[in-house]
Order: sequence, then C-alpha cells, then structure tokens
Amino acid sequence: MSEPERTFSGHRGLQLEEALIFEQGSPERTAVDLPQPANRVDRLGGLQRRSAIGLPGLSEPEVVRHYTRLSQKNYCIDSGLYPLGSCTMKHNPRLNEKVARLPGLGDLHPLQPVSTVQGALEVIHTCAHWLMTLTGMPAVAMSPAAGAHGELVGLMTIRAAIEDRGERRARVLVPESAHGTNPATAHACGYAVEAIPANARGRVDLEALRAKLDTDVAAIMVTNPNTCGLFESDVIEIAAAAHAVGAFFYCDGANFNAIVGRVRPADLGIDCMHINLHKTFSTPHGGGGPGSGPVVLTAELARYAPLPYVVCESGRYLLIEHGADDPDARPLGRIKGFHGQFGMFTRALAYMMAMGADGLRQASGDAVLNANYIMARLKDVLHPAFPGPCMHEVVFDDTTLKDTGVSTLDLAKALIDEGFHPMTMYFPLVVHGAMLIEPTETESLETLDLFIETMRALVLRAKAGEAAAFHQAPRLTPRRRLDETAAARRPVLRWQPAAIDKAAE
Ligand SMILES: *Cc1c(COP(=O)(O)O)cnc(C)c1O
Repeated sequence: MSEPERTFSGHRGLQLEEALIFEQGSPERTAVDLPQPANRVDRLGGLQRRSAIGLPGLSEPEVVRHYTRLSQKNYCIDSGLYPLGSCTMKHNPRLNEKVARLPGLGDLHPLQPVSTVQGALEVIHTCAHWLMTLTGMPAVAMSPAAGAHGELVGLMTIRAAIEDRGERRARVLVPESAHGTNPATAHACGYAVEAIPANARGRVDLEALRAKLDTDVAAIMVTNPNTCGLFESDVIEIAAAAHAVGAFFYCDGANFNAIVGRVRPADLGIDCMHINLHKTFSTPHGGGGPGSGPVVLTAELARYAPLPYVVCESGRYLLIEHGADDPDARPLGRIKGFHGQFGMFTRALAYMMAMGADGLRQASGDAVLNANYIMARLKDVLHPAFPGPCMHEVVFDDTTLKDTGVSTLDLAKALIDEGFHPMTMYFPLVVHGAMLIEPTETESLETLDLFIETMRALVLRAKAGEAAAFHQAPRLTPRRRLDETAAARRPVLRWQPAAIDKAAE
C-alpha cells in the first residue's frame, strides 16, 4: 500500500480537522448583538471586569458546526458494532430515554419533600424489586454509582460484618483473570490481595483456592461468568469452600447479561454482587453514562447497607435517611449524594418492563448465542483460548498470529480502517495476546457476519505476509498510529498548536 495522500486542507474525506474553539473566530464575530443598557448604575463597588472575558468569538453556525463535528468524532454504540469484551456495549433503547425525560421524573429535585416524589420512590423501589427477583437476593443497595463503587460498598459491608463478629481477617482472594477493579477494591478496603490461579479450562482452580482459604480470608471476589467468558462450573463448591472458613463470597456481577433469567446468583451461594445497570440493563455508558452499580446483599450483609434507602409501608414510600430509623440496621452511612443515579433507575426499569421476564431471558440467551456464533465461525483462523462453548463473550489468543509479525494490537488497528471498533485487547491478562469479543444480543446477523468476514480477511492477510501494512494501520483515520509509549512516558498535557503534527502520527 502506498502512503495515504496528505490533502491540501488537512481534512480526510468528509472527516474534517477540528481546531480548538479558542483557535477559531475572533471576538468581534460573537453571535450576540445587544444594545448597551441605558442609565446603567454600577453596583459592583468597582469590581467590574476591566479586560475582555476571553471567550471565543464565533457565530452561531460556527459554534453549531464545531460541536456537531466534535460529537461525530466520538465512536459510539449508536454508530456501529462496539465489541469490547467485558463492557456489554449494547443498544440503549430510545424508550428508556423517553421515560427518563417524562417531566414527572426528569424534572424532579432531589431535595423535594418525600410526599411530592412518591412516584420516583416507587420507581427506585420497583427497580430494586426486579433486581432482587432476578438475582434471588433479599436486599439491594441502590446508590453505588458504578460497578467499582458497588464493589467498594459490597466489600465495606463484608468488612463491617466481620468486625461485628469480633474477627480480624486480613486477606481477600481474587482470581488472576479478575477485572482490575476487584484487587483495587480489596486493597482500598485495607485487605492484602492474593491471586487464585486459573486451571487449563479458564476457571478458578478449586484445589488452589482451597489451599489458600483459611480463617484469615475475609472474602473471595469471583466474577461469574468470568472475564474469560466462561461460567465457573465449580461455583457451588467455591461458595461452600469460602463459607466453610467463614469467608464471604463477593461475586462481580458485571457479566450478569449472560445469565439473566437463567441463573439466580442467590442459588450459587453468593453473599453480595454488584450489577452494572449500564451493562446488563441497557443504560448508556462509554461517554454517555453515568453508570450505576446496585449491590444485592444477603440478609446478614443488608444490615450494613448504605443510606438512604426506600421502604414501602402501607402503600407509602419512605426514604430512610438515618440509621436510627431502623433499630436493627447498622448502616455504613452515605456513599453517594442523594439517592443514587436516579435517571439510570428509570432507564433500567423501563428496559426491564419493556422486555418482561421472558424478554430478559431471551436476551441473555441471544447474547450467548451471538458470542458462540463468532467463535464457531472464526475458530479455523483464530485460536479460542479455551475449549468448549463460551458465554456472552469469546476470547481468542494470538497463537495463529505467531511468526506473522502481526500482533493483536496491529490487528485491532487494522479493524479500525475497516470501520469496526476493536475488541478488548490483552485482557484478560491470563490469555496471551487476548482478543476478547462481546457482540451482545443487540447485533444483527448481518453485522456479525460482516465483522466475522472482515476479521477472517485480516487474519488471512496477516498470514500471507502483509505485516508491513498492518504496522501502518490505521491509515484512514484523522490520526494514525500513535506512539503509545511516548504518549505514556512524555505526555503533552498542554495544548501547543505547533506540536500537532508531532503528536499526531
Ligand atoms: C465493567 C466491569 C467492572 C467495573 O464496572 P464499572 O461500572 O466500570 O466501575 C468490574 N468488573 C468487570 C468484570 C467489569 O466488566
């Protein structure tokens, strides 16, 4: 392939270069044209501004175009397939948005008297009800603002329960394949983190786990389905082994999308689990957020749930804001301003009610089917990291790229030129050159087929000795291959127009 041409304007096709708003226009061109008010009396006691305010001076069309072009630079789930494994980037139904914007929900103020927001409290309560029903758990703390925040709350309830028992436990066990937030959470709660190895089947090595379990272990944090896209087939034994030494079973429920309506986490023996509403229940994330990470809890842990929470008494919804309101409770206190991500509760509830129990069950089945379809159709050119079927995401290793001079990174960059957002790369860490692909249930067969054919063509080109072309990818984007090492080691954090060419490619 020849070096892509540089255009005179610097634009590439209809993708336009975008200067910062402060570099555009001039103050005389501001789109405001108001007469100076007559008889103005200065009431600022001499503190009025003396110099120009420094705002960019642009006309309305310039402003509209600037922000429209910026918005188009953000690849998103509304643009195309977003197969990032572990992220569950699925379609955000527009019905959710419509419901969240209803004036009675969207225009509330969190400090309104409880008597005026009964409907909103009912939304929180009903959303909680669905989450408890789907997980089989007796309680849920709704306020955590993301999965990682849910992990923190879950582990804090575990720590409180252990302290209440008068015990001291210092360690938390986390599988090698865990999402980075798991060890980070355990560390933040003051625990020493110890890794549990995986077996050749990509699951927790039960014997290795048993060997590490003793009365010094506060909790195990296990993701199920795990980050290799596999169901932990020994999960019942894992739970029993943890409970036998008095440890708690924290389940990372970020992958709940694979099992909704099919497996109830309570039946697996878990003590608490966060649910990412922004993954499983279709609320936006990845730029569109915010996230929301409610944590389901056993009755034992529910005593420590954070404030506030909603209860329903003879048809009226109450907001419990003080521990003293419930003599049995030993709440952690507040972990978030107000009542959690209310807008996400409305979206998640709209989704659950639109889908119904049967629809939710079908969605998890379709998510698993789609991932297995990709695995089945690519396994002659890419090597699945583990034998057997997967759950909602499939992980390939880089065995088939060996000796081609093309790495997982090169393949991902080449996918960008082909119009696909790359899959998750190099995670989970236990898989060499990992490519973790999660299509979700919302992609059509045509989209999956084009992705599969594209991936197949790229791998065949890599094997045909076209490594040099891969090393230049992406070639068709406004910015080409970035020097990621230099960007990490010598970040340029201040805007310098002169450095743009150097920074770009
Ligand atoms: C996404 C994810 C998390 C963290 O959730 P956030 O909402 O991003 O904080 C934790 N564990 C796993 C397995 C995940 O995929």
